[in-house]
Amino acid sequence: MTKAIENLVNQEEKIINVKSVEQLLSSTSLNISRILDKALEEKEITVEEGIELFKANPAKDLNAIMLTANELRRRAVGDTITYVKTRNINFSNVCYTGCKFCAFAASEKDEDAYFVPLGEISQRAKDAWDIGATEVCIQGGLHPKIDGTYYHEILRSIKNVVPHMHIHAYSPFEIKFGAWKQGVTIEEHLKSLKDAGLDTIPGTAAEILDTEIRQQLTKDKLSAEEWVHIVKTAHKLGIRSTSTMMYGHIDGPEHWANHIGILREIQKETGGFTEFVPLGFVHYNTKLFNELGSRAGSTGIEDIMVTAVSRIMLYKWIDNIQVSWVKNGPKSCQIILNAGANDFGGTLMDETISRSAGAPFGENMDPKEFDRLIRDLGRTPAVRNTLYEILEYPK
Ligand code: SF4
Repeated sequence: MTKAIENLVNQEEKIINVKSVEQLLSSTSLNISRILDKALEEKEITVEEGIELFKANPAKDLNAIMLTANELRRRAVGDTITYVKTRNINFSNVCYTGCKFCAFAASEKDEDAYFVPLGEISQRAKDAWDIGATEVCIQGGLHPKIDGTYYHEILRSIKNVVPHMHIHAYSPFEIKFGAWKQGVTIEEHLKSLKDAGLDTIPGTAAEILDTEIRQQLTKDKLSAEEWVHIVKTAHKLGIRSTSTMMYGHIDGPEHWANHIGILREIQKETGGFTEFVPLGFVHYNTKLFNELGSRAGSTGIEDIMVTAVSRIMLYKWIDNIQVSWVKNGPKSCQIILNAGANDFGGTLMDETISRSAGAPFGENMDPKEFDRLIRDLGRTPAVRNTLYEILEYPK
């Protein structure tokens, strides 16, 4: 018998010898098993243990990590998979900040530069309301010609037309810009935005909350400390937010676990996060990839691992973990929803930011398509609002 055939026979014997799922999972590395057992005993996983999980060997450990995250998801929120009927309105793409991962921004002279007038913004909100949307998500570039009060005008113009529409608007970076334009503090600006109709804010512009990484992604953007300050100030004023992490560029396991650890500490202090959304970097049309040699986005395994480990680390603190169908595609999302996630995100209607970077998965998801994708997983679809209150179980 040749050596190769002998190897095959030995492998075959190994496969035949494995007689139970327990035996299959017994191949999990000892250090990883120990951490997962601790998580299943509902003890908090440290940042260092989070790093160990992120560094696990997928060939040996991925299944056990996924199963643990899926079990913790079940304990935290059950088997329902939610989504929200929402419309994105990116009111302008004019921005000179120069974030190297961004393919959305344009200069005023560019052919594709745009600025959506107030009347059009409120009309889009009304159209969305008329077909069942409960939320508009409003973000834009930092246009040098708008003044800080323009953000309030957008809010009022929408609430005048659709008073019960939930307005989820302005990243922490836009909030810093608006406050600076008006010469007021972050707290004063947030209070006045709330008075004008702001309900919640997106926890975008977080990228990776690490000074060294942020310096490379974009020099003069918001610092990690400023992001934390703005989010905590919002929470303390009763303005809740989402939380996000953009991964898969020049970052790695230490950054991910530290970032999730920072979010967990904020949540312990304020309880203001509604969800965590891991966002894989879309690289195609970005300077970061094309000129500066970053990685070509996250791998499929990383998409699963980031969701699974965030569920394990955030257990008991942030209940809702969202998948991004825009960045990962609906079929990959089905797998990630079996690795600790419980929310499919939003219908979006006019997604532009990921599409500009080259994401191929479209700008709108029909609610019926969400229902089908969720039922295919043997789970129950539910329409939620921004604050995760269930509005409807589709028939
Ligand atoms: S990510 Fe936002 S702030 Fe940065 S360049 Fe793009 S639009 Fe401007």
